[in-house]
Amino acid sequence: MDQAVRQQYDSLVEKVKSYIPNLNTTRLDDAFEYAYQAHDGQKRKNGEPYIIHPIASAFIVAEMGLDLDSIIAALLHDCIEDTGATYDDIKTRFGQPVADLVNGVTKLTRVMFTSKEEEQMENLRKMFIAMAKDIRVLLIKIADRLHNMRTINYQSEAKQREKAHETMQIYAPLAHRLGMQRIKWELEDRALQCLDPVGYSEVAEELNVRTANYTEFLERIKTRIAEHLAADDIDAVVESRVKHVYSVYRKMYSQQKSMFEIYDLYAVRIIVDTVHDCYNALGIVHELFRAMPNRFKDYINLPKANKYQSLHTTMLAEGVPFEVQIRTHDMHHTAEYGIAAHWKDKSGLEGELGSEQKLEWVRRLLESQQDTEAEDFMSGLHTDMFDDEVFVFTPKGDLINLPAGSSPIDFAYAIHSAVGNRMTGVFVNGRMANFEYVLQNGDIVDILTSAHSKGPSRDWIKMVKTGEARNKIKQWFKKECREENIAHGKSEFENELKRSGLPLSVLTNRDAVNFMLHRVSVTSLDDMYAAIGYGGHSAVKAANFLREEIVRISRLQPDKNTIEELIQAQKKPKTRPTGIVVQGLDNCLIKFARCCTPIPGDGIVGFITRGYGVSIHRDDCDNVKHSMANEAETERWIPVSWDPNFHEAYQTAIQISARDRDGLVVDVATAINMMKVPLRSINADSIGGGYAIVNAVIMVKDTAHLSTITNKLSRASGVIEVKRG
Ligand code: MN
Repeated sequence: MDQAVRQQYDSLVEKVKSYIPNLNTTRLDDAFEYAYQAHDGQKRKNGEPYIIHPIASAFIVAEMGLDLDSIIAALLHDCIEDTGATYDDIKTRFGQPVADLVNGVTKLTRVMFTSKEEEQMENLRKMFIAMAKDIRVLLIKIADRLHNMRTINYQSEAKQREKAHETMQIYAPLAHRLGMQRIKWELEDRALQCLDPVGYSEVAEELNVRTANYTEFLERIKTRIAEHLAADDIDAVVESRVKHVYSVYRKMYSQQKSMFEIYDLYAVRIIVDTVHDCYNALGIVHELFRAMPNRFKDYINLPKANKYQSLHTTMLAEGVPFEVQIRTHDMHHTAEYGIAAHWKDKSGLEGELGSEQKLEWVRRLLESQQDTEAEDFMSGLHTDMFDDEVFVFTPKGDLINLPAGSSPIDFAYAIHSAVGNRMTGVFVNGRMANFEYVLQNGDIVDILTSAHSKGPSRDWIKMVKTGEARNKIKQWFKKECREENIAHGKSEFENELKRSGLPLSVLTNRDAVNFMLHRVSVTSLDDMYAAIGYGGHSAVKAANFLREEIVRISRLQPDKNTIEELIQAQKKPKTRPTGIVVQGLDNCLIKFARCCTPIPGDGIVGFITRGYGVSIHRDDCDNVKHSMANEAETERWIPVSWDPNFHEAYQTAIQISARDRDGLVVDVATAINMMKVPLRSINADSIGGGYAIVNAVIMVKDTAHLSTITNKLSRASGVIEVKRG
């Protein structure tokens, strides 16, 4: 065995032992042996034996402090992808948890990122999170990428740019959300070096020159601080750091600042034992130097979403601004290693990392957007809804986003109606799948088509999830097979007549038939059958039109018409159901009050209007209180209740207070639409002071449904309050 490989592995074992002191190395050695054999003979682009890469990735995972299974999985992470190893091999030898981790990493490795469109990136990040299932998979994948970025110089230029782009768009933001600052910075700097080598070296060189100039200055500052802390008996580590290249680059180019305007270019970090000491140290620093106004931030009392805690303040000494960060050792560890550090503290090393409950916590963390640059209303809503969506790829790597539960048919129609209409088979991840297969995140879907395909089958309408696919299939039937549609629609319509007790002979009643054709907006029975056949019109509705007219005609000519007798035998037509039960009154006209738009779950009362049936109000409606106080009207109020067997949506109004900005209405409307909530009307008014009120009328099932909606909306950025209108 290569001496260098042996040494690398030994230092990995050392690293793991540093936090798992009683480590039994048998499994780890076995994994090393297995990976070594599997990658035997493979070389990396730089000429090193391939095994160096998994060892180095495992080392990064060990630096994060993850459990032994994660380290073993990191050693094996390329085995399924690049060698003959299978999931079952790994499961038999190292157990299911390890096999699942390796499998998860492999899936992420197979995701292709050829799509470069900015708006797809948030989707890709979401998909990554959704696919990873176990957060350790994400951490191992980040370690894998970090090592690849460290050795990227050996790749072709095109490959470098591609990997750097992915790193910037996917991996660095994920590391940030997971609170892993150190890894985030390194990923960003290495990616920037590939993407804009000139810009990188400009910033890096200027930073170097300045750092050289300011080294003595920083030393003086550190010494002063350290002396004063010691004088107050505060144990502290005082160190300094220079901002990483990419963050300076971003400030200089996106905010057009000069390096002189970046106040936190230099930072002095004070690490102490307790929170109490943090505030004491803060006091001392403020006595020693002059503070820049409005630059103090207390992330100890108000931690960032990714759990970052510190006190930040910017001071001025000898005319030079510098940031001071004060935190405890624990907070420092969390700042460097993020989520991994948190888990280590909370669950112990052999605890149930990756269990569902933990995952939930992590998901919430990943969803929270408050600390990202993209202060975007939509992305705030997107992420907590990614469970409703599934992200899959075309063989070329384009990302297609569909509702969860979608089938390959939905996918085919999402690409193009011609692809759907000529679909004859489907490969998912290289394997033949059936049409009812439920698409999973990250699937690569390859649709087989044939010019000789007979077109979609009617059953497909039931298999698809998206309205788009359903409409396109109907469209096809409408165009392609009129004869078949007519036959199909005719039998459906005739069945409907039978079901509702009408004899086929009603079709001989010219007037009634013409009335029906007019209502359906067609000119002949065949056209109507064709429309029913392709799903463009409902047979039930058409039959109702016919019956309506026959009833009307038979009332005008009250003679021995057999049809009329038949109709009389039918149960009398009911008023349209409304979901409201009025005690003692059947079939009365119901309307819902506009002032309070009640929905199931609300307490309600009915008001007998003068001639317009019963109007339904919420029992806490202001109008009810006023009216009940009026003696003349008291008696008109009657008890009513919701019919528990009625399940249609009701109209209600909501009011959203938000910071005013361009596109607010559109964003709210889109957000409502994304929740698949029908929107009846929407408008916004500025109320001054930079605020606006958005009024929307939506259709909801009940109060529980409404509160889900208002909760989601109120979590969006810029929104202050969501309440009922
Ligand atoms: Mn790898």
